[in-house]
Amino acid sequence: MAGLYIHIPFCKQACHYCDFHFSTNQELRQRVVEAISKELKWQREYLNNESIETIYWGGGTPSILLRNELEIILDSIFKNFSVVTHPEITLEANPDDLTFEKLALLKKIGTNRLSIGIQSFDDSILQFFNRAHNSVEAEQCISIAREAGFNNISIDLIHSTPGQSLSAWKSNIEKALALRPEHISAYSLTIEEKTTFGQWQKKGKLQAIDEKESAEQFELLIESLTQAGYEHYEISNFSKPGFESKHNSSYWKQKKYLGIGPSAHSYDGISRQYNISNNHLYVNSIESGKIPFEREVLTRANKINEYIFTTLRTMWGTDLGYLEKELDYRLAENQFFQTFLEKGLVVANQHIIRLTSKGKLLADQIASDLFISE
Ligand code: SF4
Repeated sequence: MAGLYIHIPFCKQACHYCDFHFSTNQELRQRVVEAISKELKWQREYLNNESIETIYWGGGTPSILLRNELEIILDSIFKNFSVVTHPEITLEANPDDLTFEKLALLKKIGTNRLSIGIQSFDDSILQFFNRAHNSVEAEQCISIAREAGFNNISIDLIHSTPGQSLSAWKSNIEKALALRPEHISAYSLTIEEKTTFGQWQKKGKLQAIDEKESAEQFELLIESLTQAGYEHYEISNFSKPGFESKHNSSYWKQKKYLGIGPSAHSYDGISRQYNISNNHLYVNSIESGKIPFEREVLTRANKINEYIFTTLRTMWGTDLGYLEKELDYRLAENQFFQTFLEKGLVVANQHIIRLTSKGKLLADQIASDLFISE
């Protein structure tokens, strides 16, 4: 069983923090849609005939696509791949696109999970982020989605925003919980160099909040959501039991996936492929008969480090037996391993290690200390 990811590289406007690949110029839309449809056909062998269990429309903003654009791509998916009877089909959407008519269409074409980019329920923060929606749309889109028949809804939130107090973050969490989404993804704001925020930071106009404040916001999030019955199944992801994202979980469980469209990544168990992150170059290349990608064959060290990094962030933990059997690596012999156990940052239960609450605050650092070099 494998996953399929479709990258739709268009947005209405550029959010100030966003480092994903997208364009606000819609001129190439039709050509990109046609190119994605062709790439799907040409990549039909990539997954070695494994059935598609999850389809994920990401971006960019897939919810800006029109009916005919969505249908061209879907048609190519179902013509070229064997898809299981009840696949999880997720579509990333922005609140300002979610009219009842749009939602009914998304439902009709098979979407059964929405991932809504709410980010904040606070108008001043939404404006600071340069989001295209407001707080009213943020709150209303979920009830409209319910009316349209969606019963698997995820929302994205951002914490650790400069200028946002702990009590303002608390009020965001309360608003999110009142809407009862099945899934919540919450990310700490990271300021990336090539974004507007990155430029502001360089000019001294913006400063990231300090680590202590950020840790407090993360701790409040974990406490509030777990008390409300959500499972903290991955460092940035919480779900009601049974509503974990199957697609994203497959990334963390080393399943194969195929990524289609500009900037999309693929993984076949041996290598990773990265499509070019440029809409013009992508369509020109596809139109001349070639998929524009780079391929990286994974070394043993790459596989070990990726396995540690992704699994340690999940509630399923890192399986020392798997590392030893499949990758010939004895993690327990790593010089940092005992220290992390003694400091209460990780716990070991038989052959599985997991982060403790304290360890979750330092997840990236702990994982990188356990990495091996080539
Ligand atoms: S955050 Fe989403 S909507 Fe905003 S620019 Fe990035 S991809 Fe587009």
